[in-house]
Amino acid sequence: MIHDSGMPAPLARVVEMLASLPGIGPKTALRLGLNLLSRPASDSTALAESLAVLHEQVGFCETCGCFSERGLCHFCNDSRRDAHTVCLVEQPVDVLMMERGHGFRGLYHVLHGRLSPVDGVGPEQLHMAALDKRVAAGLKELILATSATVDGEATAHYLARRYDASGVKISRIARGVPEGSELEYLDEHTLSRALDQRVSWAVTARQR
Ligand SMILES: [Zn+2]
Repeated sequence: MIHDSGMPAPLARVVEMLASLPGIGPKTALRLGLNLLSRPASDSTALAESLAVLHEQVGFCETCGCFSERGLCHFCNDSRRDAHTVCLVEQPVDVLMMERGHGFRGLYHVLHGRLSPVDGVGPEQLHMAALDKRVAAGLKELILATSATVDGEATAHYLARRYDASGVKISRIARGVPEGSELEYLDEHTLSRALDQRVSWAVTARQR
């Protein structure tokens, strides 16, 4: 069967599915579809099989909300990580970004969103009950790494208030000048925040 586009219908279907993905326009989708067709059939089968089990095999950690294949994620299962320090982020993908830096050795907590009164997202719509339990269990530090958006800031303030009396130390990631960037290219909010959140610059720090 030939599709309206002139392509064989099965190819048109693949192109249509690919084009529905973010960042892939119709031309790229066609290029990818043709590329798959030009490769051994086993490549397409392998791709189809990996897609078929994606939802079934990837879920979220019951404790922290990170991606997990079953039960606890590999962060929560890793006894070498500091279980007393938790970095809170909005989405599972934020954890992947944090891990790219290789600097953080604590655990994570993924809210799966942020407070947004306009969209009807309150604390009960977020992965908050599990966080209450973790804080109550004697967490030492909660690092708020929600986004620098209005809602992200409001969420951070809300969490700081929610756990104010719990004894956990609350901190907020600093949003400063990106490494290697000239001040002239920063927007004024980034720059004024960088100034507001300046850290003490001792002699030892300067000599590093
Ligand atoms: Zn976990």
